[in-house]
Amino acid sequence: MSGTFLGMPGNFPKNAEKAVQDSQLRFNLRKATHTIRGKRASVVDELPDWQELRAAGKAIKDETLRHLDRYLVQLEDAVTGAGGHVHWARDAAEANRIVTGLVKATGESEVVKVKSMATQEIGLNEALAEHGITAYETDLAELIVQLGDDFPSHILVPAIHRNRAEIREIFLDKMAETPEGLTDEPAALAEAARLHLRERFLRSKVAISGANFMVAETGTLVVLESEGNGRMCLTLPETLISVVGIEKLLPSWRDLEVFLQLLPRSSTGERMNPYTSMWTGATEGQDFHLVLLDNGRTDVLADEVGRQALRCIRCSACLNVCPVYERAGGHAYGSVYPGPIGAILTPQLRGMGSELDASLPYASSLCGACYDVCPVAIDIPEVLVDLRAKAPHGRAERAGMRVAGWVLGNEVRLAKAQRLATRFRKLVPRRLPGPLSAWTDTRDLPEIPEESFRDWWERHERP
Ligand code: SF4
Repeated sequence: MSGTFLGMPGNFPKNAEKAVQDSQLRFNLRKATHTIRGKRASVVDELPDWQELRAAGKAIKDETLRHLDRYLVQLEDAVTGAGGHVHWARDAAEANRIVTGLVKATGESEVVKVKSMATQEIGLNEALAEHGITAYETDLAELIVQLGDDFPSHILVPAIHRNRAEIREIFLDKMAETPEGLTDEPAALAEAARLHLRERFLRSKVAISGANFMVAETGTLVVLESEGNGRMCLTLPETLISVVGIEKLLPSWRDLEVFLQLLPRSSTGERMNPYTSMWTGATEGQDFHLVLLDNGRTDVLADEVGRQALRCIRCSACLNVCPVYERAGGHAYGSVYPGPIGAILTPQLRGMGSELDASLPYASSLCGACYDVCPVAIDIPEVLVDLRAKAPHGRAERAGMRVAGWVLGNEVRLAKAQRLATRFRKLVPRRLPGPLSAWTDTRDLPEIPEESFRDWWERHERP
């Protein structure tokens, strides 16, 4: 990839403005999100106890987060007891340093990768490249993104912004060898990727993965996938390194039962995903290292409203129903986590120090569709509103809010302001001046009535 999302310039409205002018992108996004959301809705409707399942998922995650310190130590003991090695990484730099050191110690200069959001979050591929180590993505969509020197734009379908013809062009351009007469049929493209990856699977001695879940009681890691490429990475190489966010923990196998129902139905719209790989510690012929990643998660946990974002199981259901994501696309969010979950997770993990991160809590119409579909009931609108209050505001906006608070906080002042507005209603401009025009350019100012309701009530109803 050409770079990481970290430190990307711009802000959400500017990025989105570019995206909405791209009709091809809008067509691709609409087609893909509507197909997946339809599939999700039909398999969710099959389960009469979906809401109970959802409540159970929420309760398990909340309980785990409440006692995260205890469960993490339990996990560490279990992994170590099963012959694995556990490393703790406070931030991206530390995680990258640990993984780079581990790969270097094997003497290898190539690794194969299982699709992983955590490694994208820390910019691992770029960190490895700085030390002369090449990382090969093996998930088909991640491979398309990597070959296209591009950024992922969806959690589940990272190349959602590309259509078949574009993918064929990327393959012809970037793959050393492609089958003769390669067409843009999905089967032909998958076969070309299979041939391209097969040789890498057989050659690579080191693999890097993330995990969907970690079971504290046994130290077991779990990866759910559709292609089987993940399983090739997890089983063939001599060294396996897994980088996993500390919130991916579940206390017991029994809890896993709930999430193995919630995740596939919410993400791919399947009753069960085709491949579920589980492993515990080192196995014969394979060293295992687990890197537990904090990178801002402890700070999120400390926030009473925002901590619910740590329940997220990265299913992407919220992206597929979001009217803002559907039009703006994933790149506008400037983060590996796009859509509604990105709008609440990125500003919490990275802080709101940059223009881009401070703009993300506003990347929503607060319609609430994301909350309705979330399998772990994260109240995304609630967190968005809370983050908006915490986001940095300009001097003019702060002054405006103070004046509004002064007027709206007192009945007499409000009545006077309303009378003043009705008296001078003809003078109120349809377009506000200066920077305020950004508001009126995209919205109609409400008509000011000849008489306020308060005055009408005085005349008609008061004895
Ligand atoms: S916030 Fe909920 S719906 Fe969105 S990706 Fe996370 S778990 Fe899925």
